[in-house]
Amino acid sequence: PDPPVTLLHAFREVVARVPDRTALAYFDGRLGYRELDELSDGLARYLAARGFARGDRLAIVLQNVPQFAVALLGAWKAGGTVVPVNPMYKERELAHVLEDAGVTALVCSDRAWDAHIRATAAGSPVRIPLTTSELDLQTRDDQRVLPGRRTPPEDTDDLLAAARAGTPGPPPPDPGLTADDIALISYTSGTSGVPKGAMNTHGNISYNADRQRAHSVLPDGATLFALAPLFHITGMVCQLAAGIVAGSTVALAYRFEPGVVLDALREHRPAYMVGPSTAYMALMARPDATAEDFSSFRLLYSGGAPVPPALVAAFRERFGHYLRNGYGLTECTAPCAAVPAGLEAPVDPVSGTLSVGVPGPGTMVRIVDDKGADVPFGEHGEIAVRGPMVVPGYWNRPEASEEALPGGELRTGDIGFMDEEGWLYVVDRKKDMINASGFKVWPREVEDVLYTHPAVREAAVVGVPDAYRGESVKAFVSLRPGAAADPSELIGYCRERLAAYKYPREIEVLPELPKTSSGKILRRELRARRD
Ligand code: ATP
Repeated sequence: PDPPVTLLHAFREVVARVPDRTALAYFDGRLGYRELDELSDGLARYLAARGFARGDRLAIVLQNVPQFAVALLGAWKAGGTVVPVNPMYKERELAHVLEDAGVTALVCSDRAWDAHIRATAAGSPVRIPLTTSELDLQTRDDQRVLPGRRTPPEDTDDLLAAARAGTPGPPPPDPGLTADDIALISYTSGTSGVPKGAMNTHGNISYNADRQRAHSVLPDGATLFALAPLFHITGMVCQLAAGIVAGSTVALAYRFEPGVVLDALREHRPAYMVGPSTAYMALMARPDATAEDFSSFRLLYSGGAPVPPALVAAFRERFGHYLRNGYGLTECTAPCAAVPAGLEAPVDPVSGTLSVGVPGPGTMVRIVDDKGADVPFGEHGEIAVRGPMVVPGYWNRPEASEEALPGGELRTGDIGFMDEEGWLYVVDRKKDMINASGFKVWPREVEDVLYTHPAVREAAVVGVPDAYRGESVKAFVSLRPGAAADPSELIGYCRERLAAYKYPREIEVLPELPKTSSGKILRRELRARRD
């Protein structure tokens, strides 16, 4: 069957089919599909009564809490566009997003409102502030309440109270959303300049969420664990949207914390999860994690960041599960290629890179040169994607849109290649290439080698200025708990396995590598590091 027109269409069907099924599980709390429907109806009514209309923007600045879904569906039911914002944003970053997207309604936690959002919102178009008492995971007792209430700060209303005040009542008028309406404005992390708002349409989201339902072969009513943050496109689409389309129970655990995640897996026994490889690495680093903790899973996906083949092997050996690679970008509304259930991805014999999978049906992936012409199979070029999940452009950025999406085809900024069977490989980001004495070095390849060393937990490779070579290869690593390795030993290890121009001349050991909130290791921060 065709994907639903919007996620709201899919949601309505699920509510009618399994109203009493748990939609969201949060520690001891449960929110059923019917209840989620009523709360989001109530919120839509509350917003409409305050002048929030079709096309208006509502920002959600929350971790993985049930209120996220209430706000998302409520805003869509009022005809609005949602702007998911990382709660770790500082004032400057938040102010940019609120201003750029013209956000008029905002949902955040009480604490964030008190700490910095109140002041930032004062200088922005925000007219409707809603707060919600998020649960502070620092104290374990706090985990035990679903809509744990404090008195809301005086100048805001409480999200759930506002939603309940509008319930029960007649359903809000159908905003008549179409597949082409903008569902989300997703800000890129801005490694290459000011963050831009990718416009994910309802059609983009329902296509990818439905694709996932179709290929994931999960039993009806399976539980899915939200390993990635919902404010990031992977979390939003592969977890929340895919969960809704399938009528699944989505288990949330505030934010990624390996010990809390293990507890949640033991409690919820999920069948499916998607997250960055660094999250899997962190779970591997827990000595108390066992194969039993993962025994309920049917499928495990690692997406949104490079997956070292050594991780896949170690994970399988320890937990008995094959980690499936998936490749995506914000501009592709999460995945555009993945390893299908039932198949295993090949590893390129030359570079040692693990394939990210194959493009989904209806998705055209080409490998192109600088002029946009196809390069032959096996040769490196930029990955270009066309398909129903590719965004139409960036919010208010016609020039950047034209540059990134010439003729509607997304230029990903990633270098990759495709083999003759159609498996796609991501070599690295174009802009992360290291030029050492005129030789091209792709950091990924060096990192993949470091990951095969038994002491290495995380690895990141960057180019650093070098008077003689122009740039030289430097690696940062963190070590597994209890492991020891000195830099010269690690350099020697790489030197045995990589061409002379590729192996790192310098290796620095850090307790942990800096990561984005979506779990990507921040090479940019390491490059800028001066010790
Ligand atoms: P910005 O675009 O501002 O730099 P970002 O990198 O966080 O922000 P995302 O859309 O979150 O933007 O990340 C997409 C990128 O992640 C891809 O372009 C690619 O470089 C990388 N990536 C995603 N999945 C994989 C994968 N399976 N293997 C290798 N790289 C991946």
